[in-house]
Amino acid sequence: MTPTPDLESALEKASRAYEEFASRGLDLDITRGKPSPAQLDLAVDLFTQVTGDDYRTPGGVDTRNYGGLDGIIELREIFAPLLKVPAEQLLAGGNASLTLMAQALTFALLHGTAADSTPWGAGTHKLICPVPGYDRHFTLAESLGFELLSIPMDDEGPDLDAAQRLAADPTVKGMWLVPMYSNPTGITITPDRAAALAAMPAAAPDFTLLWDNAYALHHLRDEHPETIDILSLCAAAGHPERPWIFASTSKITHAGSGVSFFAGGPETMRWFTSNLANIAIGPDKVNQLRHLRFFKDSQGVIDHMRKHAEIIAPKFDAVLDALESGLGGTDLATWTKPDGGYFITLTTLEGTADRIVKLAAEAGVKLTPAGATHPYGLDPQGNVIRIAPTMPTLADVELAAEGLVACVKLASYEKLLAG
Ligand code: PMP
Repeated sequence: MTPTPDLESALEKASRAYEEFASRGLDLDITRGKPSPAQLDLAVDLFTQVTGDDYRTPGGVDTRNYGGLDGIIELREIFAPLLKVPAEQLLAGGNASLTLMAQALTFALLHGTAADSTPWGAGTHKLICPVPGYDRHFTLAESLGFELLSIPMDDEGPDLDAAQRLAADPTVKGMWLVPMYSNPTGITITPDRAAALAAMPAAAPDFTLLWDNAYALHHLRDEHPETIDILSLCAAAGHPERPWIFASTSKITHAGSGVSFFAGGPETMRWFTSNLANIAIGPDKVNQLRHLRFFKDSQGVIDHMRKHAEIIAPKFDAVLDALESGLGGTDLATWTKPDGGYFITLTTLEGTADRIVKLAAEAGVKLTPAGATHPYGLDPQGNVIRIAPTMPTLADVELAAEGLVACVKLASYEKLLAG
C-alpha cells in the first residue's frame, strides 16, 4: 500500500497514544487464565469442611485411607448430571485434569485403548488440533511424540470436512476439543456439529474425541448453551468408546487444589481404571469430601458459578468495551465475544501479533506469547492474540485493555505503512 498522509497521521497519533500509555510505568498481566484472589475467596469454606473427627463420606468411607480409585461416589453423583454422564462412568481424580489427559494418552500409547488393543505408540501417531487452541494440549501431545495437525474452527466448532479428511488416515488417533467456551476463542460447539463429530468416519478403529469440558459450567450470562451429552451421541452413532471426557473444579474452587474428572464409555472406564490401578492406589478423597460438603448438591455448583460470573463478567465486558471503542469500525482487528470461559481471542492484521505482544510488554502489559495458541507455537498468519482477563483487578483489566488497543493501532499502522 502506498503511504498516504492519512495513514501517516494515523501512525503519528497511534505512536503518541502508545508513548503516553507506556510512560505510566504500569505492570499488568493478562497472560494466563487464572482465577483472581476474589474468585478463590469464594471457596474459602473448603478449608474447614473436613476435621480431625469428621472425615467419613455419607457412605461411611474413611477418606484418610487408601482406596477408592474411582473417587467418592457422592461427589461423582453431584457432577455427573452437570457433565451429562452417568455417575458410574465418571471418575473423580486428583487436582488436575491435565494429568488425567496425560495418563489416558500414555496408556493408549503403551497399551492401546478400550476400542483397539494396538498401542498407539507402535507407529506414527497424530492428533487433530482445531486452532486456535489450548497451548498445554499441544505441548502435552508434542511431548508424548504425537504429530499435531491443525484444522480451522468456525462459529459452530471445528471444520468438519478438514477433520474428516485427516481422520481418513489410520495414524490419526484422535482430536482435541474444548466443546464449551473454547480456550481461547470462547466458541461453543453446536449440538449438530457434535453429532457430526460423533458419527464422523475415521480410519483408526479407536479414533478418540479428547473432549476437554474444562469450561462446561463457566457461564458469564444467565442464558447459556446446555452441556452436550457426547457419550449418548457417540453411542447412538455406533462409537460408544469414542469420547474421553475431561473436566475439573480448577476454575470452580481452587485452581491448585481442585478435583479432576474423567468419563467415557463403559469399556473405556474399565480400561482407564485398570491401567490407573498400576500407578495409583486412590485419589485424595479428603479433598473430594471437602468438595462434596462445600457444594452439597448439583445446584450448589450452579449457584457457586453464578458468583464467579458476577466477578468476571465485568472484566470481560471491560475488554470488549475497550476493543469496541478503540477498534470498532476499523479494519484493524476482530475479536470474539464469549458467553463463558476464560478467554477472548483478538485477531489482528496478518503478521502483527508478535509486534503487538512486544510493544505491550515494553509498555508494561504482559500478553500470552504470540503463536501459543497454535501447535509448535507457530501461528501461520501471525495474527492471533489470547486475552485472559480474569486474574487482574477490574481497574487493571481496564488499563491493560486500553494499552492493548494502543499497541494494536501502532503495530497496524506501522504494518500498513510498510506495505
Ligand atoms: N483444559 C483447558 C481447556 C484449560 O484451559 C485448562 C486451564 N487453563 C485446563 C484444561 C487445565 O485444567 P486442570 O487444572 O484441571 O489441569
